[in-house]
Amino acid sequence: MIPVTTLAGKKVALFGLGGSGLATAKALVAGGADVTAWDDNPDSVAKAAAEGITSADLHTIDWSAQALFVLSPGVPLTHPKPHWTVDLARAAGVDIVGDVELFVRERRAHAPDCPFIAITGTNGKSTTTALIAHILKSSGRDTQLGGNIGTAVLTLDPPKSERYFVVECSSYQIDLSPTLNPSAGILLNLTPDHLDRHGTMQHYADVKERLVAGSDVAVVGVDDSHSALIADRIERAGVRVIRISRRNVLADGIYAEGTKLIQAASGAMLPFVDLDGIQTLRGSHNAQNAAAAVAACLAVGISAEDIRAGLASFPGLKHRMQPVGRRGNVVFVNDSKATNADAAAPALSSYNRIYWIAGGLPKAGGITTLAPYFPRIAKAYLIGEAAAEFAATLGEAAPYEISGTLERAVAHAAADAEKDETGPAAVMLSPACASFDQYKNFEVRGDAFVGHVAALDGVTMLINSATGGK
Ligand code: ADP
Repeated sequence: MIPVTTLAGKKVALFGLGGSGLATAKALVAGGADVTAWDDNPDSVAKAAAEGITSADLHTIDWSAQALFVLSPGVPLTHPKPHWTVDLARAAGVDIVGDVELFVRERRAHAPDCPFIAITGTNGKSTTTALIAHILKSSGRDTQLGGNIGTAVLTLDPPKSERYFVVECSSYQIDLSPTLNPSAGILLNLTPDHLDRHGTMQHYADVKERLVAGSDVAVVGVDDSHSALIADRIERAGVRVIRISRRNVLADGIYAEGTKLIQAASGAMLPFVDLDGIQTLRGSHNAQNAAAAVAACLAVGISAEDIRAGLASFPGLKHRMQPVGRRGNVVFVNDSKATNADAAAPALSSYNRIYWIAGGLPKAGGITTLAPYFPRIAKAYLIGEAAAEFAATLGEAAPYEISGTLERAVAHAAADAEKDETGPAAVMLSPACASFDQYKNFEVRGDAFVGHVAALDGVTMLINSATGGK
């Protein structure tokens, strides 16, 4: 745990006692802060009380006495409208921060030189975060991996020099971290997502920009216009920028040419690594993730040799284009993490004949941008609330059925794929939707898919189906 010493002896209000909220409350108490915590869910309040956290309805506290208000990133700061606690804190002039900001302050106070890599973007954050942590770890560095990827940042070991922190940041976490200043900050890409929580694309982009604007070295994917403009703007403001591209040749930076990553400096191009044959880094989206990882690792002083070795041994992540089972010519692929159309595109572009399980809670725009891949769809099996909308988008472009549930979709897709005599086929869950209409989260949805695949006759599982992963 990282005790939050920067608020010792001060009163701190905290709202949101889920996993990271509770960890944050404990870290504040361990550092000597006088914490009053609350949550709308009485079970969470009871659980925190059992762990020694003082609770009180935040309607009833003296806000003017609070040094800071700590908000869970899951609770609305701005959109669709500020949470009631945000209104109360603002009315009393109390600053509002999240756990990443507390970490940043702790690092600045005790170990400002400790290498800290922060990662954001619309898609590829977790892959890039895990890849960087893997490169650092396998090169023998003391490595701490956390943030949005699942481990609350304040549960990590405390910052000290020679300890490397790799922290995935959602836009909500950036919004709550006004002094975020990583040694290397990565902005992978920007496409519309989570606009329900950010209002407009411009606001979403502005929030993401803050992570790289505050970085000592900024690594920016310049393949979309929002990110390219951000790279130019922060460079003009004096930030050292390393551009990366999965599509275009760059005079300076790191770009992909097929599976090869090229390092360019003042127009001189040097091959850095070939990703060909690294199963866990298939596809041009992963070339973007790998390019970002290479740039950030070089920026914090890792040798090219160590980076190449780490790339080659990357074990990959669960629920991201993960081949989980095989039956004859059919491979079953779990891409449950593809919660929007952009994230589903790489999976659809990686296989030629797809029995595609899609649907859930739809995002703005649905699957219209996936039209170029529809010819690869042998048949679509539509589930959840999005089924009717996706059926309308598919229209005549690909056969489909409304399966309703994931279980039925897997059974029907597997049976149809087995009869396919045209060659290798994939039964793939790549839903292009959030999971919340039918599942707690994308992990539970992916694990359910793995369970349904494992229950089919004659399937050889490629992973441990009890744990769903590696
Ligand atoms: P995030 O943490 O940003 O949600 P992940 O690394 O978990 O991203 O990847 C989620 C899905 O997004 C993957 O299954 C893949 O299909 C897609 N994806 C991964 N990297 C990229 C990228 N750089 N650009 C576009 N899509 C990507």
